[in-house]
Amino acid sequence: MELLKQRIIKDAVVKKGNVLKVDGFLNHRIDVRLYDEIGKEFYRLFGKENVTKILTVEASGIGIACITAQAFGYIPVVFAKKGKTSNISDDVYTSRITSFTHGVDYDIMVSKEYLESGDRVLIIDDFLANGEAVKGLALLVSQAGAELVGAGIVIEKGFQPGGKELRGKGVRVESLAIIESMNDETGEITFRI
Ligand code: 5GP
Repeated sequence: MELLKQRIIKDAVVKKGNVLKVDGFLNHRIDVRLYDEIGKEFYRLFGKENVTKILTVEASGIGIACITAQAFGYIPVVFAKKGKTSNISDDVYTSRITSFTHGVDYDIMVSKEYLESGDRVLIIDDFLANGEAVKGLALLVSQAGAELVGAGIVIEKGFQPGGKELRGKGVRVESLAIIESMNDETGEITFRI
């Protein structure tokens, strides 16, 4: 997605530890016009899949998921909540993921009420790195007996293993920009798509 790539080149900052900071337009201050284009692009990619629900994880996925849901004709968005195992009840689907940016394990959960076996679920997230978030969300979908249509990712870091692993497992992953390399000393970013 050219608009997104140009914005990454203009405003993203490469941090140490393979972290790309996009706070100026995606993760802290939000460029709603860009979000709108992102939502339309996900609809262009997945619009024929009869998606019934969009699933993401709090917090940064929620805004992108909502604007995508709008492009899909206002289908519901469910976001997995992060929490501690001790709070988990029988009423939730749950899985454990390791946070890429914080390096800690946490549990994500979705109330059983909000994911149903008849659902066709599209996972949406801002970044794909090691694939932990998408794998954790996909596990919730399978626990519910729902169908995973695919994963729509805004920025995939193609030099990290998540995308390859998920596609290898047969998950349809569509990323709007795929970063081939990034250098925290020079700030240079190259793209695969
Ligand atoms: P994964 O679970 O695929 O390893 O990492 C994806 C999750 O970690 C995303 O939900 C995102 O919030 C966060 N993340 C991973 N890499 C980056 C990055 O380079 N920049 C930012 N801002 N978030 C990232």
